[in-house]
Amino acid sequence: MNPRHLFTSYFSLLTLSLMASAGSASAQSKDRALEHARKLLRSTPLIDGHNDLPWAIRESEKAPRDVAAYDLRTQTKGHTDLSRLAQGQVGAQFWSIYIPGEIKDSGYARVQLEEFDIARRVIARYPDRLALALTADDIQRSFKRRRVASLLGMEGGHAIENSLGALRSYYDLGARYLTLTHNVTLDWADAALDSVRHNGLTEFGREVVREMNRLGMLVDLSHVSPATMSDALDVTEAPVIFSHSAARALTDHPRNVPDSILARLPKNGGVVMVTFVPAFVSTEVAAWEAQAKEQETAIREAVSDTVEQKRRFEEWKATHARPSATLKQVADHIEHVRKVAGSDHVGLGSDFDGIDTVPEGLEDVSKFPELFAELIRRGWSDSDLKKLAGQNLLRALRQAESTAARLQKTREPSTKTIEQLDGTKPTT
Ligand SMILES: [Zn+2]
Repeated sequence: MNPRHLFTSYFSLLTLSLMASAGSASAQSKDRALEHARKLLRSTPLIDGHNDLPWAIRESEKAPRDVAAYDLRTQTKGHTDLSRLAQGQVGAQFWSIYIPGEIKDSGYARVQLEEFDIARRVIARYPDRLALALTADDIQRSFKRRRVASLLGMEGGHAIENSLGALRSYYDLGARYLTLTHNVTLDWADAALDSVRHNGLTEFGREVVREMNRLGMLVDLSHVSPATMSDALDVTEAPVIFSHSAARALTDHPRNVPDSILARLPKNGGVVMVTFVPAFVSTEVAAWEAQAKEQETAIREAVSDTVEQKRRFEEWKATHARPSATLKQVADHIEHVRKVAGSDHVGLGSDFDGIDTVPEGLEDVSKFPELFAELIRRGWSDSDLKKLAGQNLLRALRQAESTAARLQKTREPSTKTIEQLDGTKPTT
């Protein structure tokens, strides 16, 4: 070996060892941050705002609606099971009681009640791991007993079928939030992804919010249009939540929350629970999805044969790879909400089991600590991390409970109808 070679190989050895030590240093800091995150989540409940497990069970290919067959003690096909909930240190979960707004067969009540039944059977089936929670105190109690506090959140105001009596009955079944709309504009509220019919809430829509305040059911403004968000904020006497939305300033998707609304949260006391939905947190994914939708429409207009339609769309997808969202992008949205609304108004609402694709790094419910580790590396204080994890939601829920206690002293259950308040015959 000549000296020159000796020098080169010595040099490359040095470079290699430097690279290796840099690599292990970053791995060490990663481990330290993760350890820190894990410790923090042992001391304060992590509360997730939205998980679609009940719908995943309803739609399961093998055994639809079969709570026993969808065994949470084994690794499920979806994003959620007991072992991964424990790994993810989930302290409390709002299980989504979702029903599609497009059902037209037998009314919404049957499907809505079946969804309550599925969720409540899941909770009852694993008493050593899950516990039904109806209040903020229940969340604290379950957390101490190392059970996942299980709350129910209704997704879609269409489910109340323009009836405040139905709203009250769903509260009695355990619903602690109602997302005012899903993707369909209602007789009394505009949805973010549908046409504008009322420019926000109608008078009956306002009465729904007032009655929710009286009951102590959180008003969830994910899925609604900005005008509906604004009207609800004008009327509500309790904090609102956004159970699964991100920041519109970072990703211009209609499902996200504009800065003008974020700025109103300090006065209201509400919480934006930042979601992991790839198209809501990544501009590239949002653009790809919009393009894919355009492409699908164009193909459908060009050919009528459905097999050929599918073939052409698959061909398009083969040449237009879908981009991925990342954990870092989710962290960016969390930081934006903290910047504009403040550290008292940010939380988490994953939408696991309600999404087909997931951000890199946030593949399922076991990954929450990784997100906290990222924020720790970005310099977040323990106090802000605890607020994000669940303290903000606990505060909002407690405030909704005390507002309800106050209102119930002076207000009877509302018996107002949509015909009385809006003067129109409902169209659905
Ligand atoms: Zn949703």
